[in-house]
Amino acid sequence: GPAADRLDADGLPLRHDLRGASAYGAPQLDVPVRLNTNESSHPVPEAVVRAVAEAVAAVAGDLNRYPDREFSALREDLAAYLARTTGQPLVAEQTWAANGSNEVLQHLLQAFGGPGRTALGFTPAYSMHPVIATGTGTRWVDGFRPGDPADPFWLGAEAAAAQAAEVDPDVVFLCSPNNPTGTALDLDVVTAVLDAAPSALVVVDEAYAEYARAGTPSAVTLLPGRRRLVVTRTMSKAFAFAGARVGYLAADPAVTAALRLVRLPYHLSSLTQAAARAALAHADLLLAAVEATKEQRDRLVEGTAALGLRPVPSDANFVLVGGFADERAAWQALLDQGVLVRDVGLAGHLRVTAGTEAETTAVLDALAALPR
Ligand code: PMP
Repeated sequence: GPAADRLDADGLPLRHDLRGASAYGAPQLDVPVRLNTNESSHPVPEAVVRAVAEAVAAVAGDLNRYPDREFSALREDLAAYLARTTGQPLVAEQTWAANGSNEVLQHLLQAFGGPGRTALGFTPAYSMHPVIATGTGTRWVDGFRPGDPADPFWLGAEAAAAQAAEVDPDVVFLCSPNNPTGTALDLDVVTAVLDAAPSALVVVDEAYAEYARAGTPSAVTLLPGRRRLVVTRTMSKAFAFAGARVGYLAADPAVTAALRLVRLPYHLSSLTQAAARAALAHADLLLAAVEATKEQRDRLVEGTAALGLRPVPSDANFVLVGGFADERAAWQALLDQGVLVRDVGLAGHLRVTAGTEAETTAVLDALAALPR
């Protein structure tokens, strides 16, 4: 009867759109070389460990009180960091932060997506974009990346704008540098999509921006005069701070004001705010590891090409490598050698995070030992 129709196979009243879905998450395996989640392989430097510990200790006595709901000091620091690294002046009101950029994206979809609304992304891209869309009741439309001779996953302005015009979405996700393919978008893709979808919020996910090759400007530089543009960032990658869960964005102050309507009160703990500010105060020291990681990224590109594989050009801290006859068998064979990489569900491809010099050597050696 109608009552039973509302229950799933386990007899639970689970939402229909979640039935049969599987949870997102890469395996967390304890193996010597972990290159599957695009973390920084560099531990937090000792000076930053001390600064974080002192900052956390300084607020611990006030944990009887709720944190600053507006996380104002952190917003000031985030605006200063973005202004310094992108050249684009920003004020604190243009920033927002949450527990990882995943939560920032969820806030955006809670406020600008939702039931009756549509989000468009260009697949393959970050697989959490459709998951967060579903979780917020936003209809998801899978766009495509047409590719070009130099990059099988290339997305240009014309193809992106045509799809945006056709779908007329409420939210568009652009991921630059794109996960899992690695390449950054030209900024004309962003402006073309803003023009082609005149009522859409256009979200550029720049989780890997700090790793981009020279001459790749951030979409933050496009913010003036573009109220529907949002650029998301994270401290999980370049700041080697994935465990702290801090993501943020830059946008018009009207966008960030709207996010107050959906965030839970006090969503950023005093501990998180203090730790993030301590890390931001040491940005230069932390970003030094980014340079080392970019060298390993380039070594992965050259080394896999030399093995006859097909790396996709990368602006990120990972490389998507094509040319595997059987990517699942290759993934298992690498794991058997103690090297964990990511099977992103793309035929013939595996994604490898760029870590330390020793880790690059280990993965290249393991790849060279694969049966062919
Ligand atoms: N965006 C992209 C493109 C990512 O790859 C990731 C992490 N894998 C995130 C956002 C989310 O990261 P976090 O929640 O740790 O900020």
